[in-house]
Amino acid sequence: MVELNINGSKLVLKKGDITEEDTEAIVNAANPSLMGGGGVDGAIHAKGGPAILEECKRIRETEYPEGLPTGEAVITTGGDLKARYVIHTVGPVCSSGKLDEEKAKLLKNAYYNSLKLAKEKGIKTVSFPSISTGAYRCPWRDSAEIALKTVIDFLKRENFIKEVRFVLFTDEIYNVYVKTLEELKKNV
Ligand code: ADP
Repeated sequence: MVELNINGSKLVLKKGDITEEDTEAIVNAANPSLMGGGGVDGAIHAKGGPAILEECKRIRETEYPEGLPTGEAVITTGGDLKARYVIHTVGPVCSSGKLDEEKAKLLKNAYYNSLKLAKEKGIKTVSFPSISTGAYRCPWRDSAEIALKTVIDFLKRENFIKEVRFVLFTDEIYNVYVKTLEELKKNV
């Protein structure tokens, strides 16, 4: 586990299963349908129970009949999870395996809009998975850099959110985040 103090708030990197986290909110790497899927999305719905899907259906019917656009974020109950809320966001798909400028911006938006929504809802502690680095196949190193930079910038600019955790599912992705953070610290 790595902990860093940023402007009085905590940035944490840890290995684990995000569905076990006790932050007020956890973030779901969802797809535009908001109807669940594989990976972290499937795990969150499986453990959180049907209340999450019910709210997602309502969001589709009212706010986003065409689906949630990439880079946007919405919030539902956490259902049976320890976390009170789930923030659902959609990262870009890197079918070519590359994170070009447009996709990088969309990935940044996914993190930024999730944090913005958390703040609007008065949430002070948030856990993120590594968005877009599973089924969506974006390169790990570049995605980790965007994820970390976006969170660090947000925490530097305001101090409402007190703790942000990256909960990384495997040793491999955890190590990429640790290394990327080390490199970013050198350039501060
Ligand atoms: P995406 O479609 O955005 O790529 P995935 O769920 O396929 O989303 O993968 C995103 C990341 O989430 C991957 O690094 C994957 O290993 C990880 N992951 C899968 N299950 C969990 C979990 N329960 N907790 C945390 N991370 C998870």
